[in-house]
Amino acid sequence: MEAQKKKRRYSEEYIRFGFIVIIKDGTEMPQCVICAKVLSPAAMKPSLLQRHLHGCHQDLKGKDVDYFKRRETMLNRSKLDHSGSFHQSNKAALHASYVVALKIAQQKKPHSTGETLVMPCTKEIVRIMLGEQHAKKLDTVPLSDNTVQRRISDMSTDIKDQVVFEIKTAPLGIFALQLDETTDVRWLSRGNVVKRVFELKDELGLFFSCNDKKVTQVYLAKLNDPKWITGHAYIVDILSRLNILNKSLQGADAVVTDAVDKLKSFQMKLKLWETKVKKGNFEMFEALAERQDISDQLVNLIVDHLASLQSEMKRYFPAVSEGILKLIRDPFHTDVASVNDEIQEEFIDFVNDSSASDLFEKESSLVREVLFLGGPWSGEMTVVVLIVLVLVKDMRRSL
Ligand SMILES: [Zn+2]
Repeated sequence: MEAQKKKRRYSEEYIRFGFIVIIKDGTEMPQCVICAKVLSPAAMKPSLLQRHLHGCHQDLKGKDVDYFKRRETMLNRSKLDHSGSFHQSNKAALHASYVVALKIAQQKKPHSTGETLVMPCTKEIVRIMLGEQHAKKLDTVPLSDNTVQRRISDMSTDIKDQVVFEIKTAPLGIFALQLDETTDVRWLSRGNVVKRVFELKDELGLFFSCNDKKVTQVYLAKLNDPKWITGHAYIVDILSRLNILNKSLQGADAVVTDAVDKLKSFQMKLKLWETKVKKGNFEMFEALAERQDISDQLVNLIVDHLASLQSEMKRYFPAVSEGILKLIRDPFHTDVASVNDEIQEEFIDFVNDSSASDLFEKESSLVREVLFLGGPWSGEMTVVVLIVLVLVKDMRRSL
């Protein structure tokens, strides 16, 4: 037991010298992934492994770990291709090693379970049931902590490769972009898709580059065009700003007066951004600000877009006069002249009704809550005023 502990153990590090480990009669031995030569267990140390690499494969001195890992895969494949009895038993041991690693992974047990529990138990069982000679054979099954870890990673890579292969070979049409479930399918969801595409542009590029179909080549050309990506970055930013505004206008706490405040402030921000972009300041646009190649042409496009957004918002949300807003916030201190002609007299009766005034003081938050954003935007603000009046009257009646 003491002697076994002093044996040099293989370290994952040694792949940088081009060496993997094979186990023969329970002893770890280094094997070169280039020439497949197996060195003695005594050579299992960096200086000696390096000596082999530099001496026998001079031209590969500067190769990195990935290169040697690829050669390892090639070597393992060629091992499995052989049919000699040594290779057959090695193949069985390798197979067993993968089967155990898979069980360990499925049970979510530590990688070390292979060498600390599975192997000792299996050996004991085989020794008792079949005899010492058979138990010794189990030493060829690689189950060290590192090996189990490597097997699990091999298997997960293999599964990933299979999935990628399936996706690549499937007709493009059957894969639809998965929409974010938290939003419904309107222009704001499209905003999320635009953002997702931007975040995944490198992955999408890789995906499209593996597919020869004409349509994917068109997508690929766009993803490889820095000008297109920079323009896309701006679209992501402005849609995200609009998304935030839209969300702030919704929900149970949204009141028409607050909404008006928010819309006014957003319109002022649009103006501010327009001015900043003209001066070459893009800091308010997160994705765009990271791009190095913002052309004058794009700046002009963005300035035009911000300007058209402002006029579009004015058209979509017609100006709400200050008088009307004051009327909603505080009807009892509003000048009668600011109220529509047809309700002025009723309004005078109303503001002189002291019980209504008291009630409004008490219940003003309730009144405001009823004035959700929605209906009032679609037409005359008179509707809003009437709602306030009717509501306060109703409250008075119900008391
Ligand atoms: Zn070699």
